[in-house]
Amino acid sequence: MKKIFDYNKKHLIECKNLTKKEIQCFLKESEKYIKINKKKIKKTNLLNGRTVFNLFFEDSTRTRTSFEVAAKRLGADLINVSVKDSSINKGETLLDTMTTINSMSPDVLIVRHPEEGISLKISKIVSACVINAGDGSHEHPTQALLDALTIKKRFGNFKKLKIAICGDILHSRVARSNIEILTKLGCKINVVGPKSLIPKDIEKVKVYSSMKEGLKNCDIVMMLRIQKERIISKYVPNEKIYFEKYGLDYNKLDYANKNAFVMHPGPMNRDVEIDSKLADDVTRSLIQEQVTMGVAIRMACLEILINNKDI
Ligand code: ASP
Repeated sequence: MKKIFDYNKKHLIECKNLTKKEIQCFLKESEKYIKINKKKIKKTNLLNGRTVFNLFFEDSTRTRTSFEVAAKRLGADLINVSVKDSSINKGETLLDTMTTINSMSPDVLIVRHPEEGISLKISKIVSACVINAGDGSHEHPTQALLDALTIKKRFGNFKKLKIAICGDILHSRVARSNIEILTKLGCKINVVGPKSLIPKDIEKVKVYSSMKEGLKNCDIVMMLRIQKERIISKYVPNEKIYFEKYGLDYNKLDYANKNAFVMHPGPMNRDVEIDSKLADDVTRSLIQEQVTMGVAIRMACLEILINNKDI
């Protein structure tokens, strides 16, 4: 008998339409994987014989490898498609590539691509489950879920928490997904950054252009990478000046609550958006913890989606 989860869809594309109950379902299911991941032998056979494809059309270290670790720990076979050696380079369209792979009967396609909305399009033409692992500046659901799990493990719950999300909000799919998830869980969100890096249509948050004001009373300061691959230099003319105004160091962290924690999705531009020493200070920084939680949440996502595919 298949399990009935509070998340009953077979794709995970965006946080915008997730309910609080659905978010909690992923967080709850991750708990058992947090425990398994602490054991000496981390392998389970839950997804034995299932096939998962990693299709990354943009660079990635954490997301790609943690999906690989997650799939393998669940016993699934994981295929990493190297885009640079694929027929995309011979002119095949992305959707043709996806249809081709779908004909090999995969269970899950994990897709990262610079085009916003591409995972949704793919989910409409394949029979496999689709996980959006980042589509341009749009969304990155598993990052926001792992961030929520990290916060839950540290604070116990989300009520009354105030979180500052700082830096390049405009180009950040991490910010967009986190705002959706964390507000649904009951957190208050401040976004902080230069006006040029804040989207005009931003909702559900308070907007600040001063770190001093934006970090006041915050329990968590989530820093974002300046998206150099998406940014034109007019947004950040000088990294040194940017660091002085918006880079998080111990002094600026003092604007937040006394024991506030620092988060960053990685990869970091050290000493541009975050002081190198602070990033490595495990008494204040949850950055490594975020990576650890990433494996657990991705194991839960694979389990839940594949279960839903079978119903
Ligand atoms: N790794 C995250 C992402 O893929 C954050 C970043 O790249 O800045 O969106």
